[in-house]
Amino acid sequence: MTFDIIDPLFNRYILHNAPVKKLATGFDWAEGPVWFGDHSCLLFSDIPNNRIMRWSPEDGLSVFRADARYANGHTRDRQGRLVSCEHGARRVTRTEADGSITVIADSYDGRPLNSPNDVVVKSDGTIWFTDPHYGIGSDYEGFKAESENPLVVYRADPEAGTLEVVIDDMKAPNGLAFSPDEDLLYVADTGRMYENDPSHIRVYDCGSDGTLSNGRHFHTVDPGKADGFRLDTDGNIWTSAEDGVHCIAPDGRLLGKVLVPEKVSNVCFGGRAKHELYVTATTSLYRVTLNRRGVQWP
Ligand code: MG
Repeated sequence: MTFDIIDPLFNRYILHNAPVKKLATGFDWAEGPVWFGDHSCLLFSDIPNNRIMRWSPEDGLSVFRADARYANGHTRDRQGRLVSCEHGARRVTRTEADGSITVIADSYDGRPLNSPNDVVVKSDGTIWFTDPHYGIGSDYEGFKAESENPLVVYRADPEAGTLEVVIDDMKAPNGLAFSPDEDLLYVADTGRMYENDPSHIRVYDCGSDGTLSNGRHFHTVDPGKADGFRLDTDGNIWTSAEDGVHCIAPDGRLLGKVLVPEKVSNVCFGGRAKHELYVTATTSLYRVTLNRRGVQWP
């Protein structure tokens, strides 16, 4: 069985004869998928092995960057540049077209960040990222160290050179994504993972000036946690979970699941029409074709 249909509406979004296909395996904790449509390839992290992988339908699997400073989440800015969270260097970077690295943020209030986890770029160019403790909690996904800043969500403005705290009431902010119109920001709090509780996604109203308000509970993922997620063009959230990928309607209802045989960490849309869902799941990369397009740029 590939799909678990909770709400009949889910049938609109899936193709019943589309498999959940394993594309590559051999990783220790695959994370942070990002699609490069202009290169027809996917990049993703293999965090404990300190490398960024590249997969494409034409070329298959290769190492994009070794010694990747234990990179986790990735996205692209509006110029198509790779923006990366690096556990090991405790920073967010941008890879320029010539391959050089620009540091977007590595400290706040004069102290190092914890371990930036996931990142999204708004259409105005601002870079929003979460900074929980997972990359400094052990030597597995980075370098064990003490936390010197609160576990918060930041907004960096590379043009202005500013870094601001935008959410400070979470235990461990993790995945994040904007709604298609950018009126809403969804952020996962996975801070209860050590108590074996399910984790939840919160949603915030986002003003055109970037201010957040009215933070509220959106959905509790069960089983597992919302480590990472992306939205489709209807505003549904496709989130990681213990048993696969869960599809959550904009009103917070669980519509259905894409069942994956390994614990899922994160997803992203890709393919010719952004209708393919790429899934990083523990040791492997999977793909399933959907009957819906993702919010994915470019
Ligand atoms: Mg994450």
